[in-house]
Amino acid sequence: MRTPFIAGNWKMNLTLKESVALVEELKDLVSGVTGVEIAVCPPAVNLTRVQEVLKDTSIKVGAQNMHWEDSGAFTGELSPVMLRDIDVDYIIIGHSERRQYFNETDQIVNRKVQAAHTHGLKPIICVGESLDEREEGKTRQVVKAQVKSALAGLTKDQVADSVIAYEPIWAIGTGKSATAEEANDVIKFIRETVNQDFDGAGDAMRIQYGGSVKPHNIEDFIKQSDIDGALVGGASLKAESFAEIVKKSV
Ligand code: PGA
Repeated sequence: MRTPFIAGNWKMNLTLKESVALVEELKDLVSGVTGVEIAVCPPAVNLTRVQEVLKDTSIKVGAQNMHWEDSGAFTGELSPVMLRDIDVDYIIIGHSERRQYFNETDQIVNRKVQAAHTHGLKPIICVGESLDEREEGKTRQVVKAQVKSALAGLTKDQVADSVIAYEPIWAIGTGKSATAEEANDVIKFIRETVNQDFDGAGDAMRIQYGGSVKPHNIEDFIKQSDIDGALVGGASLKAESFAEIVKKSV
């Protein structure tokens, strides 16, 4: 059985003080909650302090981006070695905002996914179609290409240990979520694609939905057959709403 996984993507939000206050509150709100894995992904500059606050809890910490090289002349970048060195567990890779504003291609996403596994970080790989692609009936085609490219070259075990977040771009930060049934159909299709390419690894892999997940709609998603949790943006910026989403995912 796949354990549901709720991850908070804070994006470029929250100062150090705000980050610490959020996780202090969150750890109390979700203490004793079992049957769901929880992660927060703060801005990189706040990772170590957030780690310190969460060190005696089961809440995991993820980063939002990294380079694929171990070290070197890449001004402004962070490496997987550095993230692992401070005990970061997860790394969000290929978020649509990175693809759109920072020109992350499928090839770059694949390099980062490989680097994550090389260094013991678990990737949360984001895929999803734009509104135009959806309206042209290309959702499956687009998502399949992104998934195949992101996972290329991985072993079956590495694939099983990866997380995919299906995030229709038009649903991110817009308040418009996909219907739970629509999201489940695409996620089921992703799982079948992964199963075919990696000998059943899709059944072990967790696939989240992302895009305007809130306390009021999480239950619709989580009760679907193939949705294993959520990547939460806006609603992860308040401890209370994030904790409510976590508790409703068990
Ligand atoms: P949202 O963001 O929940 O604010 O729509 C989701 C995401 O971008 O991961």
